[in-house]
Amino acid sequence: MSDTLVAFDDVLASYDPALGLEVHVELNTNSKMFCGCPTEFGAEPNSQVCPTCLGLPGAMPVVNRVAVESAIRIGLALNCEIAEWCRFARKNYFYPDMPKNFQTSQYDEPIAFDGWMDVDVDGETFRVEIERAHMEEDTGKSLHVGGATGRIHGASHSLVDYNRAGIPLIEIVTRPITGMGAKAPDVAKAYVAQLRDLIVALGVSDARMDQGSIRADVNLSLSPKGSGVLGTRTETKNVNSLRSVERAVRYEMSRHAAVLGAGETILQETRHWHEDTGVTTSGREKSDAEDYRYFPEPDLVPVAPSREWVEELRGTLPENPTQKRARLQAEWGFSDFEMRDTVAAGALLIVEETINAGATPQVARKWWLGEMARRANEAGVEVGALGVTPAHVVRVQALVDEGTLNDKLARQVFDGLLAGEGTPDEIVAARGLAIVSDDGALSAAVDNAIAANPDVADKIRDGKVAAAGALIGEVMKEMRGQADAGRVRELILEKLT
Ligand SMILES: [Zn+2]
Repeated sequence: MSDTLVAFDDVLASYDPALGLEVHVELNTNSKMFCGCPTEFGAEPNSQVCPTCLGLPGAMPVVNRVAVESAIRIGLALNCEIAEWCRFARKNYFYPDMPKNFQTSQYDEPIAFDGWMDVDVDGETFRVEIERAHMEEDTGKSLHVGGATGRIHGASHSLVDYNRAGIPLIEIVTRPITGMGAKAPDVAKAYVAQLRDLIVALGVSDARMDQGSIRADVNLSLSPKGSGVLGTRTETKNVNSLRSVERAVRYEMSRHAAVLGAGETILQETRHWHEDTGVTTSGREKSDAEDYRYFPEPDLVPVAPSREWVEELRGTLPENPTQKRARLQAEWGFSDFEMRDTVAAGALLIVEETINAGATPQVARKWWLGEMARRANEAGVEVGALGVTPAHVVRVQALVDEGTLNDKLARQVFDGLLAGEGTPDEIVAARGLAIVSDDGALSAAVDNAIAANPDVADKIRDGKVAAAGALIGEVMKEMRGQADAGRVRELILEKLT
């Protein structure tokens, strides 16, 4: 198998990429999909289980009404049809984290189908068609112990936690997306970002990619340029950040082109994404639907949402994302570039929250895009996962506005926030970051600067006031950037003119 990658531009010269995205959303219901067990994250392993979610003989599942309501609202927000009648199905396979040996899912009767979402990339709109959004349950979680990597290879034994088994999931599946050319990686990223924002606006999930409450599987295939024939696809599983969605598409495009260019064929398989190295590796051969022996779940009644209920839920939908972006851009006075940049960084919601918490739009943008986006990128995480909150940003800016901090010191406060050192005020106190405007300390530093730079001092005495900048710089250096620059300037002029 060829492992030389083809350069991105060369891929596009010979092939058209096609994408398919499957996004799993973990709902934030209080109880599980088919039983009353709590769903709280981080509980003692196997403390939130019962005969139903452990699949014990004789246990009878009951559908969670709130989960159905969330599924319908997601479907409506994605412009889907809502089924008048649909059933659950058993997807049969064995895996230790799934004690029933089948997953209760939906097969040919999804609750929502035939929708779409428009995705903006650099001012161009791509319509992503939604094939279906269906309800299913999550599996348990395996923990492989004894190996260096936490993976099953090299482990001495494995533990299983069933707390997650039975938590409601919605799987949203697109139709193949074509016609993107070089923008395919960006379309994939923008789709997941927009979908996440929509889920947050609906309030149906925590929507944290870093915690797995949104998980994306990325399907990619290449077809010979202009042929319109879809190639064999691979499915890269559980890509857990927006940036990784983009990187995974880019990597698979280059890898597919290399395999095809060597005259070999693409194997239809699942692949694992490796965040650290930015590559995918072979998983298992992809099973076809018939391998799962789907059949309708006999223990659950069909779901038949009345049209009145569906229309009632339609009335609870949040503003459509495209309209919302246009409204916010106008309200905030952002240029097209500023708005696109904000959306592309996955920072729209956090900027909005920061503005709602009291920051001006340009201040919110400045810190999240100028400072946090860079740091998030370096750390390979989303801006929202850095540990800095909108309230922190508002407080740091207030300290700048009242003269306690300048921008340089503010950046050091953000260093402290990222390192988990406490609140902005605690960090200012602990690191001794506040600007010094006490005349005693400043005056001594000004005297030192004058003594060390007699030629500059003479220029100022001769009336070249602009030369004061050099002395201010000296004082700032001596005081590690913590001097009140305005007061330093006044003192220099008092002493020399
Ligand atoms: Zn249970």
